[in-house]
Amino acid sequence: MTDRPASAPLISLSDVYLSLGHGAGRVDILKGVDLEIARGRSLGIVGPSGSGKSTLLMIMAGLERADRGVVRVGEADLTALGEDDLARFRGREIGIVFQSFHLVPNMTALENVAIPLELAGRRDAFALAEAELAAVGLAARAHHYPAQMSGGEQQRVAIARALVTRPPLLLADEPTGNLDETTGAQIVELMFAACAERGMTMVLVTHDAALARRCDETIRVRAGHIERLEPAGSPAGTEA
Ligand code: ADP
Ligand code: MG
Repeated sequence: MTDRPASAPLISLSDVYLSLGHGAGRVDILKGVDLEIARGRSLGIVGPSGSGKSTLLMIMAGLERADRGVVRVGEADLTALGEDDLARFRGREIGIVFQSFHLVPNMTALENVAIPLELAGRRDAFALAEAELAAVGLAARAHHYPAQMSGGEQQRVAIARALVTRPPLLLADEPTGNLDETTGAQIVELMFAACAERGMTMVLVTHDAALARRCDETIRVRAGHIERLEPAGSPAGTEA
């Protein structure tokens, strides 16, 4: 049971701190981040290399734990969950897409997409995976291995795998970083279309300021803090 209103944000970070590394190598990455993302909205995250964009995304995924502060995603307080509950939470609530695709090389496209459903014990894993592959335009590639596919095709497989459990939240860490411009643009279209169709919330980390501004909101991570950037079309359009 919960007393949170239906309009509560899907993601909410309150005063989140995180340092990584040990001893003299310890780095303060996040220094008191507050952030809310409403359901069904998209958030673009930009910032210099090493500023903590991936770390921020991993905190939302429950793959990295905040040292301090509260991280809520949907009904879950990630800072209060144990490892098993966190793993269940991820399987149910989150799809993740990475820059380097992270497909299992000795599994076919279909097998890769079916993994999250099989982990969830779904008997219809392969039927659903097949439909999801078709939705990203790869029905004909179901029995091909990652090495037999182009980067753009591999990323489509990764997107199908991220979406196949129908999670409310899609997290993408530089999903176009290994793709040429045209292919990257197609991948981005695919992700925006899927999110709009399914009413998903999306958080998109990218080097590409123009791409970030296609999101409903854009923030920049810098020196452990986040700054809101003006919406696209506003006069102050000089940020990188
Ligand atoms: P970005 O995605 O913006 O390039 P990251 O979130 O990957 O940045 O990393 C932020 C900072 O944290 C970087 O300075 C990076 O070197 C450091 N960092 C990341 N992971 C670790 C770790 N496990 N131990 C120590 N430092 C780390
Ligand atoms: Mg990164």
